[in-house]
Amino acid sequence: MQLEATGKFQPATRMDGLALSEIVQISERAAELRAEGRDIVALSTGEPDFPTPPYVITAARDAALAGQTRYTPTAGTAMLRDAIAHRVGAARNNVIVSTGAKQVLANALMATLDPGDEVIIPAPYWTSYSDIVRLCQARTVTVPCQMTDGFKLSPKSLEQAITPHTRWLMLNSPSNPSGAVYSADEFVALAAVLERYPDVWVISDEIYQHLTYGEFASFAAVAPALKERVLTVNGVSKAWSMTGWRIGWGIGPSALIAAMTAVQGQFTSGASSVSQAGALAAILGDRALLAERCAVMKGRRDYVVSALNEMPGLQCAVPDGAFYAFPSCAGLLEDAGGPFDSDAAFCTWLLEEAGVALVPGRAFGLPGHVRLSFAYSDTELSDALARMAKALRGLTR
Ligand code: PMP
Repeated sequence: MQLEATGKFQPATRMDGLALSEIVQISERAAELRAEGRDIVALSTGEPDFPTPPYVITAARDAALAGQTRYTPTAGTAMLRDAIAHRVGAARNNVIVSTGAKQVLANALMATLDPGDEVIIPAPYWTSYSDIVRLCQARTVTVPCQMTDGFKLSPKSLEQAITPHTRWLMLNSPSNPSGAVYSADEFVALAAVLERYPDVWVISDEIYQHLTYGEFASFAAVAPALKERVLTVNGVSKAWSMTGWRIGWGIGPSALIAAMTAVQGQFTSGASSVSQAGALAAILGDRALLAERCAVMKGRRDYVVSALNEMPGLQCAVPDGAFYAFPSCAGLLEDAGGPFDSDAAFCTWLLEEAGVALVPGRAFGLPGHVRLSFAYSDTELSDALARMAKALRGLTR
């Protein structure tokens, strides 16, 4: 669905091609069906179902009662920036706190991209990456990374995608939507290519760091030679179940952070004072809770992946992080003799037929797949998977 000129309204050229998010469209259709009285299970959104830890809420309440209710410095409170910097051996001026990790990305791209610049984004990717690049009037260079390659970018395809216009490579490990996690060695191999291209910078989005089911590697830590051109993005949204608090941060070279702060200073100013107090409590707090929640997610992952792999037409790799399964639905498409002409047609059918909402892979730049979030209760997951299995068996009988 595209935005269009209507009546006297004429969108700016930077809006060209900016589609309303397919995730939002699916969720809206699911809501419509629910309003008609249909029983719908939506596995389409990307937020943990756990509550925010109570100690975080208490800290935020105490901060508000103590008067921390005014504007904060644009780049974030000194205490929060220091706590973030301290964990990675950086300094306060290497850190910006923003209204969610999303605003960190927007600040960085807005502060650095000119029309005609290129950003390399391995697909599948989180939908906002390409949309923010578009709003900056720059160009996304998509590099498809197939399931057979673990949905990961190879050094060779990285090198082939680089041109004199490349400004950024955007990495996301663990990945939304594929759950792929890069090992330290895989990052080192990508860094070796980038060492030959000193004008290409790297955004490493590590928002799912604490939802990694094996080893986690941070790009900046394993590629110290690139330190002066890496922006690490992280936040409290996913690990601490704080999506509504809107706190994320970027860690990078101070000149980049200063430029990002200048952008943020005009658009939103400092992030919410009360939320920053909550985020500080979160990152200083007991980490045992994170491990417990990660273990619960891992159990759900194992259950969901094996159930999907038993369904006719679907094939699902095991995600090493985040809370999404990204099965291939190629076996259900016309090329394979199946009934659907696209992943989107399959999702529409599944919603209408089985009342289960998933997101088509094409929204993430890799058609032929669907994304299913397993950040739901066991009851919701088993209900949704049973309906899917039933509908698919009916189809292929
Ligand atoms: N990066 C990725 C890969 C995400 O999946 C999300 C949330 N869906 C974000 C960034 C944005 O996080 P926040 O809510 O902190 O803005």
